[in-house]
Amino acid sequence: MKILVAVKRVIDYNVQVRVKEDNSGVVTENIKMSTNPPDDNAVEEAVKIKESGKVKEVIAVTVGEEKAQETVRKALAVGVDRGIHVKSEGILEPLAVSKILQKIVEKEKPDLVFMGKQAIDDDCNQTGQMLAALLNWPQATFASKIVVKDKSLEVTREIDEGLETIEVNIPSVITCDLRLNEPRYASLPNIMKAKKKPLEQINVADLGVDTKPRIEQIKVEEPPKRKSGIKVANVAELVQKLKNEAKVI
Ligand code: AMP
Repeated sequence: MKILVAVKRVIDYNVQVRVKEDNSGVVTENIKMSTNPPDDNAVEEAVKIKESGKVKEVIAVTVGEEKAQETVRKALAVGVDRGIHVKSEGILEPLAVSKILQKIVEKEKPDLVFMGKQAIDDDCNQTGQMLAALLNWPQATFASKIVVKDKSLEVTREIDEGLETIEVNIPSVITCDLRLNEPRYASLPNIMKAKKKPLEQINVADLGVDTKPRIEQIKVEEPPKRKSGIKVANVAELVQKLKNEAKVI
């Protein structure tokens, strides 16, 4: 079996994101970037399954500018076998990314595609679902546990009411939740070894995919500043304020 894992380069989750002065987007210059957190979980799970002997090869793929390949190198350093970097400049919407990934799936013919449940920069939670639809493959989203069976996967999913366990046939697309596992850190020797692992670069233009944006972003604004809280003397005062000032009870 072969697993393809999609990894996206995003602003590091510890960075305080700032909106550009002209409200055209957020500041990304000189900002720490990292792999989208749930994509690390997707990589970890694929590598664990490979270590269990059920998978022969794990491939990481990223779509983005030159520096996006850092995410693939990081995946190679924690056990992924080889990488693919689809070079593309500018904004890519989930539909464009899923069409690009579809081309990579057609080329690589993996049995499974693992992805993050959501990218923390656009919060779209769409790419995995769109890819599954384009491939006409089953999908399991928000996976917090994966059990590999003969020709299927048993996937436990986080849903509003609790946990749901479903079985999906292979091939399928799985989007991973942060609770799925604890991603390992790359050791220095493995980071060095990863530099020698194969990383193929493909120009997005060569894939023949229409990546034109379908959405026009009008403006990006900071959320309203939160007002500071107050201390109340007792429960009676709290109830009175909730009733008469906040008007929530
Ligand atoms: P989204 O639909 O944008 O919230 O992204 C969901 C998941 O799709 C991410 O966690 C990644 O696994 C994958 N993905 C989105 N954009 C890219 C990209 N440019 N390159 C590789 N994977 C991506």
